[in-house]
Formats: sequence, structure tokens, C-alpha cells
Amino acid sequence: MEFKDLEHYISKRQALNAALTLFAWDQDTEAPEESVEQTSKYVGTLSHELFELITDENVKNILLDLQLQDLPLEQKALVREWLKDIRKLEKIPSDKYQLHQELLMKAQHVWQKAKADDNYELFLPYLKQIVEEEKEFALYRKNNEENLYDVLLDDFEPGFHTQQLDQFFDMLKKEIIPLLQKIQNATYTIDKTYNEKDYDIDKQRIFNHWIAQYVGFDFKKGLMKESAHPFTTNFHNKDVRITTHYYLNNLESALFSTIHESGHALYEMNISDNITMTPIGVGASMGFHESQSRFYENIIGRSDLFWKPIYPRLQKAFEPLLDDVTLQHFIDGINKVQPSLIRTEADELTYSLHIMVRYEIEKKMFEGSVDYHQLPTLWNNLYKEYLGVTPSNNSEGILQDIHWAGGSFGYFPSYAIGSAIGAQIYAYMKKTVPIEQWILDGDFQKIKDYLKNHFHQYGAIYNTNELLQKVTGEPFNPQYYIDYLKNKYIQIYHLINE
Ligand code: ZN
Repeated sequence: MEFKDLEHYISKRQALNAALTLFAWDQDTEAPEESVEQTSKYVGTLSHELFELITDENVKNILLDLQLQDLPLEQKALVREWLKDIRKLEKIPSDKYQLHQELLMKAQHVWQKAKADDNYELFLPYLKQIVEEEKEFALYRKNNEENLYDVLLDDFEPGFHTQQLDQFFDMLKKEIIPLLQKIQNATYTIDKTYNEKDYDIDKQRIFNHWIAQYVGFDFKKGLMKESAHPFTTNFHNKDVRITTHYYLNNLESALFSTIHESGHALYEMNISDNITMTPIGVGASMGFHESQSRFYENIIGRSDLFWKPIYPRLQKAFEPLLDDVTLQHFIDGINKVQPSLIRTEADELTYSLHIMVRYEIEKKMFEGSVDYHQLPTLWNNLYKEYLGVTPSNNSEGILQDIHWAGGSFGYFPSYAIGSAIGAQIYAYMKKTVPIEQWILDGDFQKIKDYLKNHFHQYGAIYNTNELLQKVTGEPFNPQYYIDYLKNKYIQIYHLINE
């Protein structure tokens, strides 16, 4: 058999996937409130078709034959990934899979209501059922040596295991919690009340569109809308969509969401033409994707190098609100460490601590020892322990994220892994190219080209560790992240002699 025997199936798979993605995009941006119940049936049918196609006997035979052949790199990767998908899915009965997809669609709707009404009990039966079904699916797929949570991790971070993550999070616990305490006791304090003035939403829209373009988002290949929670979605490398969310009394929220999502979008726009619209025409992993958004948002976007040339433009756009805020004051402000309850509003330093809370609760749910009525208390206790803050209700506690309602377990760790990968890539770039000068010059084309040539173009041909090894000469190494955070915050909070 030849690779072209597979092409028809690839096109169909991508088309079905694009339709499902478009429904998901619509649900989060434009769809009317009452549409969900019936639309979820379309989603169920399409998911079923996709499932049937991916696990189709003919496709499997072609793939098994191709697997033995000497193929070009991209084709080899595609065959490998598709076979991996088959191994994951063929063990799950298709009727159960379809019912699960419908449950997820409904659960996300219920979660929205539960969060709005601060009613965890409303969401509890859905959460419990989703976890039970995910566990059942993971059991079908499980190999002898894995625990259930490792099965889930592999969906988002191939090559990463619970053991490796435990080590990573232990490192963060040991290094970051003490650093956080030092900062809270520091004599140097940062005032950022300027951020809460009334920043006209229309002016924010204009500035955010400009800044997306400034960092390289191409509006001929993408668009930007608004949603409750900012996200990126893509259909291929010439249709990549991002959302942001504006708040009248929080200038930086939308700014950094926009830069973050632009980072995700640049990755997708940079994927090579010969693999876009194929199953490997996506990021290498969730963590790798997150590394790119955080690279733009935090490492670049919260640096003084980045703002030096454009801060006057920001001041002018919101005149006179920032007239008495100096560049240095603004840089301090956007890096202010402030342990909070809400993950998406967390500062760069405490962000990973929010992830640790979720990681530990997810592991407990999948170990099977958890009382769902006690989860909010467990959540609140962990927040107290790691961040020193306690939610006063479940909307700002356990109900804050949509992920569990969408059946995404094992996903959260990718956010922390991503921050670490971003720091590792930045350390490597500093050694090999004048990245700091590029940022200062606003030369984002050079940064975009560099990332495209070294990482982005490959999509999911390589996994995270392979790609890091190939480009930086070593696999995942979180020490760069710890060093980056320490250097940065010791400087910002003048902790050198403390
Ligand atoms: Zn992200």
C-alpha cells in the first residue's frame, strides 16, 4: 500500500475535526444559551463519525502496512500518531464514547450555571459521572505498568509520567514557596492601583488588536473575538482564532491574555504547510503549546525590554490615566506578586502553585479514594497551604475552571510544564542569538522566524523531550525555570541583601 491510500481518510478526519472545533468555538463565543441541548446531539453524531473513522478497519490495515515502510519523516510521524490514537480508542465501545461526548457538552453548560450560582452541589453529580467514565476509559487503555493518571497524562504530555511530575512539583514547592514568603516579607513593596482605573473598553480593543499585531499575530490568517475565558482555536495554519476578555477596571488582564493567546496562535500559524490539515499539524504537546504562550506573555511581555519602546504608546492610548506611572513603576506593577484565588489572574511566580492544587486533587480523584462532597474543603485547604489564601465561596474555589466539566484531566500539569519549557528555550536562545536585542528593537519577525525554524514548523512530528533534545541539546530540565524565577524576582523585589 501507498501513503496516498491514506490521504482520503486524512481529509475526512480533518474535516470532521474542523466541524467539531467550529461548534466548540461557537459555543464559547456566539451560540445562544438554549442551543446547547440540541446542538450537543450534532456534536455527538459528528464525534461518533470521527471515532468510527479513526478506528476504521481499512485505515488500520493501511497504517499497519505503512508502518513497515521506509517513509519520509512527516509521513512516518503521522502513521505513528494515528496508530497511537487507534490503540487509545479501539478499546472504548463507540456507543459509550458518544454518550460521554454528550455528557461533556451538557456538563459544561451545567458548570456555567453552577459557577454563576455558587452551587457546587449542582455540578457534583456531573463531575462524579465524568470522572467515573474517564476512569473506565483509562482502564480500557491502561498498560500493566501505568497507574490510571499516567494514562491521562499521556494524552497531553507524551513521555511524561506522574513520577517525573512529582519531582518537578517537589522542586517548585522547595524553591518557590520560600521565595514567595521572602517576597511577602520584603521591605520593597509595589503599588499597582493605577491598573484599576476606568480603562475605556473601546480603547482597550484598539490597543489589544495593535499589540497582537505587534508581536506577530497575522490578521490575514486569524481573528480575535471576546469570550468569558480567553482561548485559541485553529482549523489550519491560515485560520487561527483567539479570544480575549476586557475589564473596565483591569487594564493588564486583557493585555496579557491577548499576548498569551497570540503566542499560541503564532505556533499554529508557523506550522509547516506540508503538515497543516493533518493530525500532526498541531503543537508538539499541550505543555509545548503553553510554553509558547507563556514565552510571549511572561518572558517577553512582562520584561522591561519589551515595554521600553512601546510604553509611551500605551500611555498615550489611555491618556491621562498612566501619565504619572513611570515605565519602571509599570514594570514593577505587571510583575507584582500577589497570591490570589483565581488561577487565570495569577502572577507569574504563583501560577504554578495553583496548578499544584489541581494536580493533587486530580490524582486523588483517579486513585478513587475521594469523597466528592469534601472536594471543596480539600481545595480550600490546599490554597491555604500553598498560597496562604482561602476562597470564601466555591465559584472562586473549586468551580473556577471549566476543564473538569470538559473531561480534561491530566491537562493542568501542562501549564506548569509549559512555563518551564519556555524558560529552557529562552535560556538557550540567550546563549545562541541576540534575543534581548530583538525584543528591545520590537523585531518580532526575527523571533517568529527563529521559533518557526527551530520548533514550530515541526508540529507534532516530535514529542516535547525529543524536540527539546533536538534543538537545545537536552531534554526537559526545570532547573532553568527555577533559576529564571529566582533571578527575576530577586531583582524586582530587591532581595539581593535579604
Ligand atoms: Zn494558554
